[in-house]
Amino acid sequence: MARVRVLVLQPVVGALDYAAPAELALSLGDIVEVPLGPRMIVGVVWEAERWSAREIADARLRPVARRFAMASVGEPLRRLIEWTAAYYMASPAAVLRMAVPVLSALEPAGVSIEYRLAEAMPQPSSRQRAAAVDRLAGRQGAVRELARQAEVSDGVIRGMIKAKLLVAVEVSADAEPPTPQASFAPPVLTGQQAHAAWEIARAVTTHEFAPIVLDGVTGSGKTEVYFEGIAAALAAHGQVLVLLPEIALTAPWLDRFARRFGCAPVAWHSDLRGSDRRRAWRAIAGGSARVVVGARSALFLPFANLRLIVVDEAHETSFKQDDGVRYHARDVAVVRARCEGVPVVLATATPSLEMRVQVQRGRYAELKLPSRFGGATLPRIETVDLRRHPPPRGSWLSPPLVAALRETYVAGEQSLLFLNRRGYAPLTLCRACGERVECAQCTAWLVEHRLTSRLLCHHCGFTRPVPDRCPACDAEASLVACGPGVERLAEEVARVLPDLRVALATSDTIVSPARAAALVASVEARQIDLLIGTQLVTKGYHFADLTLVGVVDADLGLAGGDLRAAERTFQQIAQVAGRAGRGAKPGRVLLQTYVPEARIMRSLVDYDAEGFYAAETEIRAELGLPPFGRLAGIVVSGADAGAVAAAARELGRTAPTDDGLAVLGPAPAPLALLRGRHRARLLVHARRRIDLQGVIGAWLAGVAVPANVRVTVDVDPYSFL
Ligand code: ADP
Ligand code: ZN
Repeated sequence: MARVRVLVLQPVVGALDYAAPAELALSLGDIVEVPLGPRMIVGVVWEAERWSAREIADARLRPVARRFAMASVGEPLRRLIEWTAAYYMASPAAVLRMAVPVLSALEPAGVSIEYRLAEAMPQPSSRQRAAAVDRLAGRQGAVRELARQAEVSDGVIRGMIKAKLLVAVEVSADAEPPTPQASFAPPVLTGQQAHAAWEIARAVTTHEFAPIVLDGVTGSGKTEVYFEGIAAALAAHGQVLVLLPEIALTAPWLDRFARRFGCAPVAWHSDLRGSDRRRAWRAIAGGSARVVVGARSALFLPFANLRLIVVDEAHETSFKQDDGVRYHARDVAVVRARCEGVPVVLATATPSLEMRVQVQRGRYAELKLPSRFGGATLPRIETVDLRRHPPPRGSWLSPPLVAALRETYVAGEQSLLFLNRRGYAPLTLCRACGERVECAQCTAWLVEHRLTSRLLCHHCGFTRPVPDRCPACDAEASLVACGPGVERLAEEVARVLPDLRVALATSDTIVSPARAAALVASVEARQIDLLIGTQLVTKGYHFADLTLVGVVDADLGLAGGDLRAAERTFQQIAQVAGRAGRGAKPGRVLLQTYVPEARIMRSLVDYDAEGFYAAETEIRAELGLPPFGRLAGIVVSGADAGAVAAAARELGRTAPTDDGLAVLGPAPAPLALLRGRHRARLLVHARRRIDLQGVIGAWLAGVAVPANVRVTVDVDPYSFL
């Protein structure tokens, strides 16, 4: 009897051997159902030599029960899953789950039943149901999803179905998505755009691995250029994956796509409702989803015929996944492109240091778009020295910035204020005893949100009303808000420039793609004079009449920073500056700073990215920091502080001492308490030649950690909290 090795979706189980019944005609990559104890589970037939499995005699092998014919995990994707698991020290099953995330999609198509609010609805009989009705406006989904969205139990939803508050809708499980048309509405490209587009299209046509950095200044037409790569892939009957960093903000992108290709692409992200997810997965695996736009996890989907990957805003650090499998989507995108033998376009106006070094090493090609489209010029960037032009007490806008806002308004143009801080004030302090109001679960201050009159922990989501008395000393009316958030800026603007119509753009106000679209529409319709926003407004938007950008605290990101603090600040400010003057009128950018003489501020003013990166690269090379050396973070966490400390000490005591490698710590993490768990950190710093994963794997395998303590490894960390 033939034997097959199956990697199953359960991380603790791993790979198992089964007998392969001849009638199933199994081959590598087939998705199968196999017995495990009394249960049936799903797995993928894999090359036996890749995983070890328990020895089982032929006679005792249980047979594979069933093969799901609709999709398989092809050889390039199997290699990608292995690479990701090995590189990020994750369980292969956890990676495989991202490729096969909807088991219901494996079953043959049919209709499924979903529910939505009835049109002529009876009066809800309880307050809970009434609240659920509010939350479910415009939603549709299976019982479980609606329960999650309404924050009630499944039972409440079932009760609402019985009470006819919700009605059943039949949803076809397999409607094919429309096909984008390569030649629906192609633009007339400029010379430099056409050259870049041609290079990308050529790599698509020749079907070869080619990592390409598309480095174009803001407003140069990067999107138009990689759209031509998409057109080439469509013409070759292939599929395309486009990764965007902020899936909630894709509305303008989707509109643009539809205008260029005649219909919407297929979306893949965690907010999709179950039936859409199922349909999307089947269309991707079956090949009818021709262009897929998604968040990170879309990288592991079983595309039938992938011909191009695009990573837009490729410098974004949010492409690094911060829990579960801690992969960096930009890097995994390049590996997938290599496995598939297709080009990958990394589009950005501010390539990261890692990307620049890959270009210098000759590993990535570079295509440049040095000027803005349509003759628009880049905005003039100036610093405002806060030592010479301090804002009045209790204010955050300096006189020159207020004057510029007024001039812009009088000229009939629009402005943007950027401050990367949600809420009203980052700190609430007691004037009587000095108490700082903190989260009970985390080492973090609670942030006041005045729009909702609550204090909120930005790490765990804990929230409480703003207290009247100090929680520590009980003094009355002694709590004061310290420092600005975007809400407080809006208040200041209302005071000093009361005529301006202001909109806040943060993750608190832009909670859905529909809200994002509404905001864009109101800015374009000139119903807004001033946008005040967090990093959400730094990228992607194209507002022709927006001519002034004010960066309220250009120094904010530099404090207490990790190795990328300066780079991240540079990118963020360059991106938000790029929102100014994209139309016919020239733009202007004011950076409020206490250190206008700092290299980073000079580089921004002079548009000297090369100089800034040359200096940063030199520092990293000297210190052997990535990409010249390697880092891995190790976090030890648990509810029991003593157990965490003991495990961390034991790891420190047994740390490897190889030449070319140093282990720092253990030390309490900056976020020493997170969601009620105590945390200690170690940091492994190694030379590039060291087999980092091998060394760490052997080290951790030798330390017995109690069951109430968790040790997680973060290879190439971006967060050091
Ligand atoms: P980037 O992504 O580099 O910031 P975009 O692709 O958003 O730039 O282009 C900026 C603006 O210029 C967009 O409104 C875009 O539609 C327009 N644009 C760019 N290139 C062309 C072109 N060749 N023809 C017409 N419009 C263009
Ligand atoms: Zn918290």
